[in-house]
Amino acid sequence: MNNFDHQPGAELDVVVVGAGFAGLYLLYRLRELGLSVRVLEAGSGPGGTWYWNRYPGARCDVLSMEYSYQFSPELQADWVWRERYATQPEILHYINHVADRFDLRGDLQFNTRVDSAHFDEAAGRWQLTTDTGEVFRARFCVMATGCLSSTNLPDFPGRQRFTGATYHTGRWPPAGVDFTGQRVGIIGTGSSAIQSIPHIAEQAAHLTVFQRTPSYSIPARNAPLGDAEVAHIKADYANFRARNRQMSFGVDFRLREEAALSVSAAEREREYHARWAAGGLAFLGAFSDLLVDQAANDTAAEFIRQQIKAVVSDPLTAEKLTPTQIVGCKRLCVDSGYYETFNRSNVTLVDVSDSPIEAITAQGVRVAGQDYPFDSLIFATGFDAMTGALAKIDIRGRAGRPLSEKWAAGPRTYLGLGTVGFPNLFLMTGPGSPSVLTNMLPSIEQHADWISSCIAYVSSAQIKTIEATLEAEDAWVEHVNVVAHTTLYPSCNSWYLGANVPGKPRVFMPYIGFPPYVAKCDQVAANGYEGFELAH
Ligand code: NAP
Repeated sequence: MNNFDHQPGAELDVVVVGAGFAGLYLLYRLRELGLSVRVLEAGSGPGGTWYWNRYPGARCDVLSMEYSYQFSPELQADWVWRERYATQPEILHYINHVADRFDLRGDLQFNTRVDSAHFDEAAGRWQLTTDTGEVFRARFCVMATGCLSSTNLPDFPGRQRFTGATYHTGRWPPAGVDFTGQRVGIIGTGSSAIQSIPHIAEQAAHLTVFQRTPSYSIPARNAPLGDAEVAHIKADYANFRARNRQMSFGVDFRLREEAALSVSAAEREREYHARWAAGGLAFLGAFSDLLVDQAANDTAAEFIRQQIKAVVSDPLTAEKLTPTQIVGCKRLCVDSGYYETFNRSNVTLVDVSDSPIEAITAQGVRVAGQDYPFDSLIFATGFDAMTGALAKIDIRGRAGRPLSEKWAAGPRTYLGLGTVGFPNLFLMTGPGSPSVLTNMLPSIEQHADWISSCIAYVSSAQIKTIEATLEAEDAWVEHVNVVAHTTLYPSCNSWYLGANVPGKPRVFMPYIGFPPYVAKCDQVAANGYEGFELAH
């Protein structure tokens, strides 16, 4: 039940949950409107995903010149990225710089976890309670809680019994960890593991990697950014950004227009080699149909398999590391020396695809009756993506209805921005928006711009509540699904589908296609927020 009897705390125009890239920029925009805003953040500083994911080797897999804010020409002209792919400390430094440069800290409240957000229908106010016992009331509530912020920690039998140290890559201790001389186990081989394994292997006495599904990974070819390259982009940054916003993923994959099978085998090989040599996610841009046609995808998958075979010396290990699924269907990984690490004598790969992890014991991990003793155990087991952080908050809308109940069969939103029954509640990069299938930064800026303009409109037009209509929401959910099924994405057990979390409904959550999405959002706003009910 809603309980609005107790004394309310701060009365605000907008309360924002989360001080990552999304919450920070939204605050900047809302402040421009002269609104009273408080941003509540569980961490002790800004940064969101870059605050929590401090595992060794953590680095962005989108190029630094693109993975940064573009709202301020001065900021992007001044800031100097040092490498093609920025490290986690560098990105966290950047976020802190933004907080200081735009004087945002006064409205950021750290060490504050939001427990509940209830809509008080009579008053038309959201009421949030926190683990610090504070209460905030606001006309609008925006969840900027991140897509990959709620960690997934599988319930391995005996997990609590392990007497050594345990870590999750998504909750890494800020002071770092020294594994020198230790026997270390790591469970998982997704992006976080692939980035951290080469670093941990250099320190540990022995590293054992438990792999359920091998990932495809492309070498990053990270390098210092050249002055000439930076100067070239900065000389025309606005157009560089504008061009990238027209790309399907909001990022330049140098997409070739030809279909993979429309060129000769030799030409395909040449293209894949060139992409492999250049490094990074742009490998997927080699041909136009890699993510929509199985036969085309097979050619790219086979190329990567051959590269793995060429790098990994032990044939049995190479075979275990070789993925069989569709490439790109699960998020493609980008690495620095991942496959090479398995040539080290202090690294062992344990395939748990056929014999799942049986138990975690006091000493280590048991698989197929064999015990692997460790001093430290790392869970690189990912996230309850896109909905996990929202599920941890007791969110209730009209008539006290919990969001968890409404979304029991999977998230339902209009444009990933709002959901029926929850007036004046906005989601930043929510399920149903392109978010994780784009460069997150332009997606975040687009959402913050749209939400702040919407709030300005609603406020100036004396509208009491804005809420998606059921018709618009149903149509959008259907559209997201239809678009997803024109691609190969729904065909594997990815976190895009919630398939990595036992019991989570299997629903494809991100919307595929940044430019059409932006056009749709613009059209909705231009038409007086069509698909939303505006109540006076
Ligand atoms: P992830 O991709 O979901 O990988 C989790 C790993 O844990 C998978 O190998 C998974 O195996 C394994 N796992 C989960 N439950 C298991 C179980 N019960 N038994 C054995 N293995 C289990 O998570 P992540 O590596 O943290 O990456 C998540 C996303 O964050 C990425 O896809 C990417 O979008 C983002 N990210 C980006 C960067 C970057 O920018 N460079 C870095 C890190 C992460 P299965 O595959 O079999 O489920």
